[in-house]
Order: sequence, then C-alpha cells, then structure tokens
Amino acid sequence: MNATVYLDNNATTPMLPEVAAAVVSSMQDCYGNPSSKHHVGDMAREALMRARGKVAALLSAAPAEIVFTSGATESNHLAILGALARDPARRHLIVSAVEHPSIRMLLPKLRQMGVRVTDIPVDSRGVPDMEALRHALTEETALVSMMWVNNETGVVMPVAEAAALAASRGVPLHVDATQAVGRMPLDMRACPADLLSFSGHKFHAPKGVGGLFVRKGFVLPALLGGRQERGRRGGTENVAALVGMGVAAELATQHMQTRMQAMRDLRDRFETMVTDCIGAAQVNGHGVARIGNTSNVCFPGLNAETIIHRLDKAGICVSSGAACAASGTEASHVLLAMGQSEEMARSAIRVSFGVCNTEEEAILAAETLCDVVQPLLNRAA
Ligand code: PMP
Repeated sequence: MNATVYLDNNATTPMLPEVAAAVVSSMQDCYGNPSSKHHVGDMAREALMRARGKVAALLSAAPAEIVFTSGATESNHLAILGALARDPARRHLIVSAVEHPSIRMLLPKLRQMGVRVTDIPVDSRGVPDMEALRHALTEETALVSMMWVNNETGVVMPVAEAAALAASRGVPLHVDATQAVGRMPLDMRACPADLLSFSGHKFHAPKGVGGLFVRKGFVLPALLGGRQERGRRGGTENVAALVGMGVAAELATQHMQTRMQAMRDLRDRFETMVTDCIGAAQVNGHGVARIGNTSNVCFPGLNAETIIHRLDKAGICVSSGAACAASGTEASHVLLAMGQSEEMARSAIRVSFGVCNTEEEAILAAETLCDVVQPLLNRAA
C-alpha cells in the first residue's frame, strides 16, 4: 500500500499534534460543566474563556462576539433562521447560487414557510453578480448570505462590496467563512459583515465544533434554548473540542503568512505541472481571486469518479467538488451555476492542500494524476 497523500483539506483537515494534545488533556483533567458554580466548573469555564479569546483573536473580533456552535452547518442555520426571526415583516432572503449545501438545502423549507428567496447568479468565473444583488435588495430583505470562499473552486467572493450594498439598504450580511478562517487573514473590525460562520475542523481542530461571529449589538434570536453562550446557543459546551479549536486558532494566527505562502506554492506547482502535462485540463476560477490552497480542474470527456478512484488506489486522496447523493454523485451545483455543462461539471476534481502537505506530495500528486488521466483521455479520443 502506498503512503497516504491527503489532498482533501477542504473536506476536513487532520488535527495538529498540539491540538490533539490539548484536547486529550482537557478531556482528562477538565471534565467540569462550565455552568457549574464550583471549582471544577470554574476550571472548565476558564478553559472555555481562553479558547474564546484565541478564536476571537484569529478573527480580530471581541470574545463576546463569538458564539460557539457544533460547526458551520449549525452556524449557518442560526444566522439565517435567526435573522428571519428578528423581524416578521422581513420575509425575504438573498443568497448566492454557489452557497454550500448547508445553506442551499435549507432554501426549499424556507420557501415552504413563505419566505421569498432570491438567488444571486455567478459569472463563468464563479463571481456573484453585484448588480443583481443591488436590484434584489428591498425593504423586506431580512438578510444577505454570501460565502467568503467557495469550498469547491476556492474563488474568493466580493464580500466587502456585498456588505456595502446590503448596508446601504439597512440589510445585514451573513458570511459563511468556513473555507476562509485560518487560511487567510480575517479582520472583523474592517469587514462590515454582521454574522460570520466557521468550523473548527477546517483549520486543524476537532470536528463537531465551530462558531458564529455575531457583531456587538446585533440581536439574534437563538435556535436552541438554554442559558449557555449568553442565551444565544443553549447546550453544554464541548469543552475539550473547543479548547482544541482555541489552540488551532492560536497556531493559525501565529503562522498565517507562512502557511498561506506554503499552500499557495504547493497549489501553483501542482496546477502548473498538471496543465503543462494535460493540455485539455481546465482550471475553474482561473483568473479571479482564489484562496491559495484549492485547485479545481475539469478533464473534458472524463468522469471525475474514475479519476478519484484511481488516485485513491495510488494513495492520493482528492475529491470531486460535488455533493454525494444517495443515487450517486450529482453534478456540482457550483460548476453548473458557472455555466458549465453537466458533462463538464462531472469531470471536475478538487485538490485542496493543507499545512501538513509537502512539495514532494504536490509533485507526486501531479505526476500520478497525469499518469491516470492521459490513458483515459487517449481511450476517450
Ligand atoms: N460551509 C462551507 C463553505 C463548507 O465548506 C462546509 C463544510 N464542507 C460547511 C459550511 C459545513 O461545515 P460543517 O460540516 O463542519 O458543519
């Protein structure tokens, strides 16, 4: 069996050793309930407070602006359902066509509940149409929701522009920053978004913990009742995992610039090798701002599933950008929204680098991909 080369960091990242050590020691020594009024509870409460401070620092936010949740799916629900619950007169929601399924799959239910939902289309590069957003905003709009970085293509969305447009009509903005947090510097003092979602496991913390930034003064009704998280999210906190997220956030803050450069170098090296060797390969999101770790490439005429399976046999883990449905793999809604055909969308693979990857791995992945794809292309010709 070949050694594993893990290039699916947009799906999840491995826990770093420092993070895992902090989680284990917290599980063993910090078992209290942070709401308990005795010294064991105090220890857990203090651990939670330290973790909150580190996560807030990563976002240049105030600790009180961080609501811990079970991850970005919950944060996205809390933001959207909470925003709709704020003012019953506002029954309109605006989202981009390329949001993550944790948002897109909520939309049919919202429509059934009488919420009007406007999809903002994207262009062929995956960038949302800001004119369409300007026209869609009304007095009745409760929220605009736009991701910061697309999980499939890595395209960076014009969040500041969207925030300014929304603010000009008095509409709050929610940003799903799950693929951005820990991978690019975010400064919530400079970004005018009111709400921002993230998930710990995308930046080397455990799965099942994340958070929602809620700007100071922004009143957001809770989804889950209870006194925790200042009444904004009930349920006993997952202290050990949150301690791990704090350590992961601290490491991301400390090493942001070097990590970003290293991942971009690997991605660019990989992409150059692949496009040099396979003339037909098409990089999605090429030519617009993209996060440095993600490469999404179409191989016209091929099926991504075949490529992924063969790479896996060689020890290399990548993914298709598309969500897996029970009946097989659906063509990516992101690539379809960018105007690609179903066939083209089904030929796309996503390679996402992380801080644990090396140059040798990037080169091996590119060489193996060429070895896998070339004969398939010859056969298809
Ligand atoms: N939003 C985006 C952009 C994501 O990439 C993901 C994870 N793939 C989520 C939300 C959901 O995160 P989680 O599964 O941790 O709740």
